[in-house]
Amino acid sequence: MELKFEQIAGFPKSLSETPQHFCPGCTHGVNTRLIAEAIDDLQVAGDIVGVCGMGCSALLPDYLDIDMVAAPPGQAIPVAVGLSHEIGEKGLVFVYLGEGDLYGRGLSALFHAAIRGESLSVFCANNLNMGMSGGHLSPTSLLGQKTATTPNGKSTVKYGVPVDFTRLLLNIPGVSFVARFKGFTAGEIRKGKELFKRSLQIQKFQKGFSFVEILGICPTNLELPPPEAVKQVKSAISGIYPSGIFKTPEVGITL
Ligand code: SF4
Repeated sequence: MELKFEQIAGFPKSLSETPQHFCPGCTHGVNTRLIAEAIDDLQVAGDIVGVCGMGCSALLPDYLDIDMVAAPPGQAIPVAVGLSHEIGEKGLVFVYLGEGDLYGRGLSALFHAAIRGESLSVFCANNLNMGMSGGHLSPTSLLGQKTATTPNGKSTVKYGVPVDFTRLLLNIPGVSFVARFKGFTAGEIRKGKELFKRSLQIQKFQKGFSFVEILGICPTNLELPPPEAVKQVKSAISGIYPSGIFKTPEVGITL
């Protein structure tokens, strides 16, 4: 009997061979690979520009073999909007940022780009803390969460409640696509690539602003081994940051 072999996985062409310096168990590495696979599947490596900002997500240009721009803190969305206007329909622009940068200093730019319905794909890596700068509080840190700046746990008194910024985007008419997945469970990682692809396709068809949030873990600042960090975050975010596709254009796009 003749055996036939078919390759079902390989090293993504858009992923650089540079060794990654993310900490063991960090979800940025998973996100990087998923973005590379989405770019390869859509065959847009030569027509796409990525924009990153500050923190650990700023390492992305070293690991993706595509054109990328690094923006100052809070300025990734304005930089991406400028690129998008310049490139027009000839190419695609995506933003990859941590939640500290996007929902902190970048919040106003995020919402104004969404209100204008800019043709952009924004990917937010939300790992509940500011990783690279030592694990201090971020806008999505949970109540009771111990961080470098809240050693006794985040309280409502000084810091308010954690806000689900992803779902705040839902009522804005210029926003076409809003989704969220966990970058640390096998089933959702498989769906994650399709969400990135869908977001980029929506941009290609000029359907407006699209947004994907990836819930991640930062084992280093949680001071836990990766499996324990996954367990802890999974249970802590349950009911607060749900996964799913919350908004999508109904017609005109097939994957
Ligand atoms: S500090 Fe946290 S977010 Fe940064 S690379 Fe390490 S685990 Fe990832």
